[in-house]
This record gives sequence, C-alpha cells and structure tokens, in this order.
Amino acid sequence: TYVVTENCIACKYTDCVEVCPVDCFYEGENCLVIHPDECIDCGVCEPECPADAIRPDTEPDMEKWVEFNRKYSEVW
Ligand code: SF4
Repeated sequence: TYVVTENCIACKYTDCVEVCPVDCFYEGENCLVIHPDECIDCGVCEPECPADAIRPDTEPDMEKWVEFNRKYSEVW
C-alpha cells in the first residue's frame, strides 16, 4: 500500500485524489489519508503529489503512517 505522510498536513492539493483509480483517498483531520486495504498499490498518485507526501509502505519506519492512514480512513 501507499500511505500519506506528514508533508500532507495542511496541504491544499488534491492531485492525488483525482488520479486514484479506486478512490481510496479519505479526508483526515488535517490531511488526506489512503485506506491501506483499498489501495491497489498502483503508484499513480506518488508522482502527482506536489508535496512529496505519498510514500510506499515498503520504506523504513512506515508502520506508524500505515496505522495513521488506517485510523482516519475508517472514521467514515
Ligand atoms: Fe490510489 Fe494507486 Fe495511490 Fe493506491 S497507489 S492510493 S490505488 S493512486
């Protein structure tokens, strides 16, 4: 899965939402989040993010961001 990380906080861009083929972006408290079970790992959103906030969870120390994204995407 891909996850939204701290650079997204207070970000006003929604380029990522527009390109996601499965609409798995959700509105968090002060940033967008990706539902980790709905993301199909296509990677399309990553280069679209002007804030470089979208990272694959295969990078180091991503566990807390996966939990963060899950928490705020399941509120809805
Ligand atoms: Fe959507 Fe693909 Fe980005 Fe996952 S990697 S959030 S499916 S655009």
